[in-house]
Amino acid sequence: MSNINSVSFLNKRVLIRVDFNVPLDEKFNVVDDSRIKAAASTIIDVLRKNGRVILLSHLGRPKNGVELKYSLKHIVPSLSKILGAPVSFCSGTIGCDVVKATKDLGNGEVLLLENVRFYKEETIGDLGFAKELAKLGDVYINDAFGVSHRNHSSVSVISKLFEDRFLGNLIFSEVTNLNTVLKREKSGFTAIIGGAKISSKINVIRALFDKVETLIVGGGMAYTFINSMGGIIGDSIVEKDSLVLADSLIKTAKEKNVSLVLPVDSINGSCFENSSDIICSDIFQIPASYIGMDIGPKSVDMFKKIILSSKTVIWNGPMGVFEFSNFETGTREVAKATCETTRLGGFSIVGGGDSLAAINRFGLNNCVSFLSTGGGAMLSYLEGKELPGLSAIL
Ligand code: AMP
Repeated sequence: MSNINSVSFLNKRVLIRVDFNVPLDEKFNVVDDSRIKAAASTIIDVLRKNGRVILLSHLGRPKNGVELKYSLKHIVPSLSKILGAPVSFCSGTIGCDVVKATKDLGNGEVLLLENVRFYKEETIGDLGFAKELAKLGDVYINDAFGVSHRNHSSVSVISKLFEDRFLGNLIFSEVTNLNTVLKREKSGFTAIIGGAKISSKINVIRALFDKVETLIVGGGMAYTFINSMGGIIGDSIVEKDSLVLADSLIKTAKEKNVSLVLPVDSINGSCFENSSDIICSDIFQIPASYIGMDIGPKSVDMFKKIILSSKTVIWNGPMGVFEFSNFETGTREVAKATCETTRLGGFSIVGGGDSLAAINRFGLNNCVSFLSTGGGAMLSYLEGKELPGLSAIL
């Protein structure tokens, strides 16, 4: 793969696709700057080599063109602080004025462009749009690991329009760490998969059966498994379309000799709010009108024992609705156990926006081997799928 180590960027306009898809609060302050920090290494390298940095990113999923809440101008203060350098903002993404702004840039200066997803062409991988974007740089670097599994104009389609195209430092370290995990032995390898929906993670669960000894399932998706086994789950989240599939995954795990571990108890709320009435029950016996919002204490103990006896841990997706403090315990305890396993010499990777947000919130971000900025991208890579954002550079 082509990295930027020995490349000279002097006098060059270097267009870098980064992933600044960060959560903002209602006043548009950055709540979690992990993704900006993760992108800094490549930007700083290019600045040190006297390149002219032009940053291209998406933020959220705007549906109707320009929307203030998705403007990248909100992240300028955080970005500037992290880089220790001034950042100019351009309120456009393509067009003559934007091209001019890139040409007016001096060596060692940074220009952030407006949200690339304000154009619907971006996510359909439109070639014409990619050609417009390509006018903004002399060199292209993809460092947006979080979207490298997408065939979007600014991620993969654009690459082929540049002779000088490279992968950034973040993508290199993501791939290196994920390769490390893929080479680990099956014995003592535990994957923890959580989050709301089983349907988005089915393929990776299947692929992981060949790599792991134990697969722990928590979060909202566990209730679909429990329901498929005849459990009564009250008003918990369930994907009716995936019940048969959940059942078949349980069977496949048995055939492949993988221990598929589900929660045994559940913390339930009377409504989907932090202040709801809370009861704990057997996960197979959730009372009518209660919603399973977190794994219960017996499940926490069981999951922790498995994690603490593992040598390799990968984790994607929270164990419950961790955004509500009354339902964060399962996620926090799994995070703590993963950190403890790491401290004792194990190797751990945590990935996905929500898992990252959770681990940051618990102040445990420095306690795992590697934090992946990709949720879907990480899972796709672990599944063995080709990532268009990577292959287009080669
Ligand atoms: P995902 O994007 O699939 O990883 O899902 C992350 C989301 O799953 C988070 O916002 C959690 O609040 C949510 N989640 C976790 N557990 C549950 C649950 N038991 N019921 C509903 N949502 C959940």
